[in-house]
Order: sequence, then C-alpha cells, then structure tokens
Amino acid sequence: MAQTATTTDCVYCGGHGYVQLLLGGSETCCGCQGTGSETEDDDEH
Ligand SMILES: [Zn+2]
Repeated sequence: MAQTATTTDCVYCGGHGYVQLLLGGSETCCGCQGTGSETEDDDEH
C-alpha cells in the first residue's frame, strides 16, 4: 500500500521524539515512541 497516511509532529514532544524531564535529561516520548511524528489513524488502545 502507498504511504498516504498524514504524519504530523507529535503533540507531546513537538516532533523531537523525546521529552525533556524537569529534573534533567530526557526520555523517549511515550506518545510517538521516539519517532517524533504521529500518524493520523484510529487509536487502537
Ligand atoms: Zn512524541
């Protein structure tokens, strides 16, 4: 299938793929698993 899915910057990390921790350092964004983008698709939680 062609990649027609629209990708947008992750709202949690802003497209960085990681989030800054208040105490310092960073960790992989749980919203995009470090990809920095999220595909517009139905959630399958
Ligand atoms: Zn993210």
